Amino acid sequence: MGEKTIFKKIIDGEIPANVVYEDEKCLAFHDVAPQAPTHVLVIPKKEIRSVSDLSDEDAALVGHLFVVLRNLAHELGLEAGYRVVTNCGVEGGQSVDHLHFHLLGGRALSWPPG
Ligand code: AMP
Repeated sequence: MGEKTIFKKIIDGEIPANVVYEDEKCLAFHDVAPQAPTHVLVIPKKEIRSVSDLSDEDAALVGHLFVVLRNLAHELGLEAGYRVVTNCGVEGGQSVDHLHFHLLGGRALSWPPG
């Protein structure tokens, strides 16, 4: 591994984050630049760059992340609907090279994305 990503620094407690959920496998915290009234990021503690870098052994981990996303959507009151997004690679708009799922809600979201 090269230099730590900002998310790895959050996992390691080197920089602060507004954490809403944590367990042994993952961490969830508010996005520092929210794009909707609710904008939370769910990340694995395991260092995985993106969806493209998942291995077959990560299948259960990704399933766990989605169960956490479901629970958070409920706890954060997003019953009216929400969006789960993961940006992958340069053209996908990924800016932090540590797998993360955006949980966005609290307003009507347009489609398609830009
Ligand atoms: P992406 O562009 O899909 O890679 O998403 C990265 C997200 O991380 C962006 O929405 C950023 O606003 C967010 N972000 C970057 N640094 C931090 C930080 N220190 N704490 C919380 N969110 C961050």
